[in-house]
Amino acid sequence: MREQLFIDGKWVSPAKGGTFVVIDPATEEVVHHAPAGTAEDIDAAVQAARRAFDKGPWPKMSGRERAAVLRHISDIILARKHDLARLEVIDNGKPMPEAVWDMEDTAGCFAFYAGLAEELDDKPEETIALSEPRFSSKVVREPIGVAGAIIPWNYPLLMASWKVAPALAAGCTLVLKPSELTPLTALELGAIVTEAGLPAGVLNIVTGLGPEAGQPLSEHSGVDKLAFTGSVPTGAKIMAAAARDIKNVSLELGGKSPFVVFADSDIEKAVEWILFGIFWNQGQVCSATSRVLVEESLYPTLLERLVAEAAKIRIGNGLDEGTLLGPLVSKGQYDKVLAAIERGKAEGATVAGGGERPAGLDTGYFLEPTILTDMAEDSFVWKEEIFGPVVCVKPFKDEADAIRMANDSRFGLAAAVMSKDKARCERVARAFRAGIVWINCSQPTFTEAPWGGYKQSGIGRELGRWGLSNYLEVKQITSFNSDEPW
Ligand code: NAD
Repeated sequence: MREQLFIDGKWVSPAKGGTFVVIDPATEEVVHHAPAGTAEDIDAAVQAARRAFDKGPWPKMSGRERAAVLRHISDIILARKHDLARLEVIDNGKPMPEAVWDMEDTAGCFAFYAGLAEELDDKPEETIALSEPRFSSKVVREPIGVAGAIIPWNYPLLMASWKVAPALAAGCTLVLKPSELTPLTALELGAIVTEAGLPAGVLNIVTGLGPEAGQPLSEHSGVDKLAFTGSVPTGAKIMAAAARDIKNVSLELGGKSPFVVFADSDIEKAVEWILFGIFWNQGQVCSATSRVLVEESLYPTLLERLVAEAAKIRIGNGLDEGTLLGPLVSKGQYDKVLAAIERGKAEGATVAGGGERPAGLDTGYFLEPTILTDMAEDSFVWKEEIFGPVVCVKPFKDEADAIRMANDSRFGLAAAVMSKDKARCERVARAFRAGIVWINCSQPTFTEAPWGGYKQSGIGRELGRWGLSNYLEVKQITSFNSDEPW
């Protein structure tokens, strides 16, 4: 485990010498003292990224040359997937197979953006048809500059890759600020990019607390672009900081995503996808389908099956074989989720399943998979993101009622619909006010497809070619075509 920050291609101690503790959420033991970067370290990191962008080789290299480095990063992550996954389990709590899966996705993300970096070479410019024949115009795309990337703790290295890979592919340089709850694998990325041959200063990694490291990064005038994933309140602060210097900003924020299940659905498939949609990663998933809407006639049977199957989910340390649900990431998150359940009960919700610390697990931030019913549509648990293994289930009358309830949210990240009627699924998919819609499933995520939300779930899209565009400026070059000598 790394004890220093990664700035300008070197491992350096934080200017103020501070550390913060890293706690294994399954054992509550302190496993590491990570370096606590502050404004001075952020400034050094931004200056290094600035030099690497203004004077270094990276932005001027061909897409193919950059792609070679990205592929190398991908290969190293794949080769190290088990040790990196183990670090994520200790850091975050998630079950080992999920962590290995995340490492494969992370490697896949770097490989995918290697391909897009090559495409930049293949299509260096685009001709624009003009209405005025005396002029001709073309468009070229150029890296946006220095990016500041601030990320959360639910998918530590994967969330880093969603920003680092497209930024590198575009020819940008970066400062990455991981979450203080999960700094371990992000710091490893410093060693990985060095081994892969990334020039010094192109990627800088500063761990530290939000107000001490994240805020100075968001306010730094040397940063051209801010890319943030996290909560809505922090997103609002990032946007306000970006407003001062009119920085380009993209935000991936929270959600309270609905899953609409019609009565003609296969009940076992519905149960399977609902459980996956909310209990995967302990429900700490921005796109988790945490509001399940079930057509009235199916509601009692489906609820009974859900409660029965949720109770069978094996809970334990993510390193133990067979664990399907690990602990929540931190004491803070655990207390927040318990408080939400209490508030739900106080506001009239029924706990149909779970809601307690699992028997026999006295240490660690463990919580049973929890199913709430009978909550009002204006209640806290129905409206607000809980970010834990808690699902709210409600009956609906008809399609119009389901769409109204699904869209009645300040969020609009994801939504899912299940029915045997394809035309109905398509209709409901179009009616959802959300950036990601799943039909007859919930959560499958592909590097090729755009990711992001409507309404307060964010601004912009990551992944796919949309993710690359986040890090590219668009320049028009227009010529006056004249035979006159100049
Ligand atoms: P958070 O907002 O508390 O923290 C996110 C990051 O911001 C951390 O690195 C933190 O240190 C930093 N930060 C905190 N205060 C800051 C400040 N004042 N200035 C700059 N940076 C600051 O979020 P979290 O608890 O880490 O993550 C959970 C949230 O992330 C949930 O709301 C979830 O929905 C969201 N999320 C969204 C997506 C998505 O793609 N839309 C993906 C994962 C998580």
